[in-house]
Amino acid sequence: MGTDSQDRFGRSLRDLRVSITDRCNFRCRYCMPREVFGPDFTFLERSELLSFEEIARAVRAFVRCGVRKVRLTGGEPLLRRDVEELVAMLAAIDGVDDLAMTTNASLLAAKAGALRRAGLGRVTVSLDSLDDAVFRAMSDVHLPVGRVLEGIAAAREAGFDEIKLNTVVKRGVNEDGVLDLARYAGEHGYIIRFIEYMDVGTTNGWRLDDVVPGEEIVRRIGEHLPLEPIPPKYAGEVATRYRFRDGAGEIGVITSVTRPFCSTCTRARLSAIGEIYTCLFAGGGGDLRALLRGGADDTELEAMIRGTWAARDDRYSELRSRATRDLPKVEMSYIGG
Ligand code: SAM
Ligand code: SF4
Ligand code: SF4
Repeated sequence: MGTDSQDRFGRSLRDLRVSITDRCNFRCRYCMPREVFGPDFTFLERSELLSFEEIARAVRAFVRCGVRKVRLTGGEPLLRRDVEELVAMLAAIDGVDDLAMTTNASLLAAKAGALRRAGLGRVTVSLDSLDDAVFRAMSDVHLPVGRVLEGIAAAREAGFDEIKLNTVVKRGVNEDGVLDLARYAGEHGYIIRFIEYMDVGTTNGWRLDDVVPGEEIVRRIGEHLPLEPIPPKYAGEVATRYRFRDGAGEIGVITSVTRPFCSTCTRARLSAIGEIYTCLFAGGGGDLRALLRGGADDTELEAMIRGTWAARDDRYSELRSRATRDLPKVEMSYIGG
């Protein structure tokens, strides 16, 4: 296991999100709008993507620098062929205490068992609405929401005890469905997180007016399902949590826009081509792949990760303003959400 790395504000490096593909079979309006990510869009070549061996080597180096939690994401991680083999490789790394995946679940029904057997610890499924029409409008895909619900059920069946749901809430689009989602999550024992719509990337046409503040979401749900605040499960947890007063279960809100949490942000991201990003809103990242493919030894990998983290002074969400609006920012589907 590794030793602590700290950035310029004394934040430790603890979590790593690994994007394993920039492709996706959905076109969520807030992430990969079809006008931009259409038939002419050029995705990464396969040869550019880190191989499973390269990812595992990078993760081992991150673990030596203090990372304990690893999340596979994308793009849609289940589009990467034989992803369960990668899961098995990462699950075998000493020091990875928590291995999770974020997925749109459209392919989860077929994969849940293999992922569980390979050692995946937790699954987070993105689900923006239970209403088929709203779901299709948000994800811009010809797929019934039932397919996602089947994927979630398959994950439970496969033995995943902790299943989280992520809901991005957009004003006037799916805000009326938050109560139904909270009820559905509570009834099934899933933990749901409502996420404020963020200005990631430069293609989603984000406007502050489209953001439904977390406080409002909690109020809307609390009017029907009484809630009470509960403390964070661990230091640096990004969700503000509430439990149902009349039964088991909890909801959370992730208020990156209205109440940012940069001061406790311990997260790094590894893009599908092996760049290290120290913030979701960064314009670029350090090229770890060049070292991986250039014959560097483990000490050099570690030195690069530590150096990148030590130089980190990101706090985009705390600074969010007119001045940050036009900064170059990488797309979320590329860097990994
Ligand atoms: N395709 C997978 C999925 O959707 O679960 C994994 C990648 S996706 C980029 C990861 C998460 O980012 C999803 O839960 C998605 O809802 C969230 N996300 C994407 N764009 C967002 C935005 N503009 N604001 C807030 N969350 C966003
Ligand atoms: Fe695909 Fe996930 Fe982005 Fe939706 S949020 S377009 S499912 S990567
Ligand atoms: Fe972390 Fe950047 Fe998000 Fe702040 S804006 S919480 S530094 S990823």
